[in-house]
Amino acid sequence: MDAKIQTQERLDDLLRDFAELRERSVGYPCNLDFDYTTLLPFLSYSLNNVGDPFHDSNLQSNTHKIEREVIHTFADLMHLPREQAWGYVTSGGTEGNMYGLYLAREMFPDGVVYFSQDTHYSAVKILRVLKVRNIMIKSQDTGEIDYDDLRETIRINRDAPVIFLANIGTTMKGAVDDVSKVQDILGDLAITSHYIHADAALSGMILPFVDDPQPYGFDNGFDSVSISGHKLIGSPLPCGVALTRSEYVARIARSIEYVGVLDTTLAGSRNAITPLIMWYAWRQHGMDGYREIVAECLAVAEYAVERFNECGIPARRNKNSVTVVFPKPSDTVVRKWQLAPYENIAHLITMPHVTREVIDRVLVDCLEPGTIQGTRV
Ligand SMILES: *Cc1c(COP(=O)(O)O)cnc(C)c1O
Repeated sequence: MDAKIQTQERLDDLLRDFAELRERSVGYPCNLDFDYTTLLPFLSYSLNNVGDPFHDSNLQSNTHKIEREVIHTFADLMHLPREQAWGYVTSGGTEGNMYGLYLAREMFPDGVVYFSQDTHYSAVKILRVLKVRNIMIKSQDTGEIDYDDLRETIRINRDAPVIFLANIGTTMKGAVDDVSKVQDILGDLAITSHYIHADAALSGMILPFVDDPQPYGFDNGFDSVSISGHKLIGSPLPCGVALTRSEYVARIARSIEYVGVLDTTLAGSRNAITPLIMWYAWRQHGMDGYREIVAECLAVAEYAVERFNECGIPARRNKNSVTVVFPKPSDTVVRKWQLAPYENIAHLITMPHVTREVIDRVLVDCLEPGTIQGTRV
């Protein structure tokens, strides 16, 4: 057969698979409700955001100006005055976490990183790469950190600076660590050298839009934050934002003559399309749009909890969370709906494309006899 036709068939098959999978994507926190076709012409150019977006570059085919606007939008969201803010668009939440913990270690080379059992798997890898001392703290059943264990562990290690990795929405249960309680602990123990990095991959795009958020932001002690772009914002390409105070970054900056840039980012060549995608998403929705989107996601999450409970399946969610946790159903159901399993639980996440009707269909499958382990319905 003609190679050209074969190539086209392969592509068509792939596309068909993805279209079909989209209908059953309820387990992972990626918003699939978007349309970026306006941006397709940008794929005709080789664009590269190498270097510091706040610094000149020899390479002119970049979207640094757009990227700076994205960073300023997130600075506003995270209550960091724009003139004190620095950041860049990353390859995803993991790179943002690595960046924050890297800055923390440069600031406190003999510091200890404290993080809960419910922390995203990227943290352990990052801590190994950075070779920084670290201690895992117990979690409560809700997924929030155990503050008594945190206090006691910091107390024993009082001589070392504290680097706290705060979960602003845990991966599995959507729990938020209370940074004001953590600050109280640091105050009580008279710890003056401390740094708080917030992993706000998902909930960084939720808390700014609810009426009664848990404490978050630089006014509540964040020193850096990582937020994913392919989660609630809905970017078809993985990306994220690393945001911190510009004064911290000055310590690690190095000027590179070859590309005429300031080498402050982890990656060298960087994606120039993803800043454009996030910028475009903000232009389309704005603060008010996201407030509505988040309100609807939370309403559907509450609907899911109520419907599951009415049918005898113990489902629950944390405050301001779109993550609905319930006993793990059969492997068939997990696979069909791409649910995220962990030990004896599973979760679904009510991103904008997950409607009440989709919830009803998932529920029907979970109610098949023998589907939910240990639950008779
Ligand atoms: C998704 C997620 C990450 C990692 O983000 P990537 O964009 O996949 O690198 C980190 N932390 C939490 C809590 C997450 O949910």
